[in-house]
Amino acid sequence: MKQKTDAQYRQLLSDIEYRVTREAATEYPFSGRYWDHWDAGEYLCVCCDTPLFSSEQKFDAGCGWPSYSQALDLERIKEVRDTSHGMIRTEVRCQSCDAHLGHVFDDGPAPTGLRYCINSAAIKFKAK
Ligand SMILES: [Zn+2]
Repeated sequence: MKQKTDAQYRQLLSDIEYRVTREAATEYPFSGRYWDHWDAGEYLCVCCDTPLFSSEQKFDAGCGWPSYSQALDLERIKEVRDTSHGMIRTEVRCQSCDAHLGHVFDDGPAPTGLRYCINSAAIKFKAK
């Protein structure tokens, strides 16, 4: 785990980044920096710089959040059952720092059939 203190996170992160990654908030759809971003590269955890997703698996789900059909490496994320807001969902967190990233749904494209619905505020883009 690459956990920082709460004070360090507050210093490092913008308000929306802090609320999403440390308090599991969800940014408004179509409001984030990456839902309509299609450059080639990798998306890193905004808290600890671990590469989590690739532009190669990014697709337009029309939902207003960056969506990926798979993670770069399943060892880098963890999935947690989330029963908040009266729904049963699978939450996605960063394995190294426990940042909340978003949720994964099973209505994605082939071959995985998965849709990782990720908050832009939880990731940062690094061009290839
Ligand atoms: Zn992280």
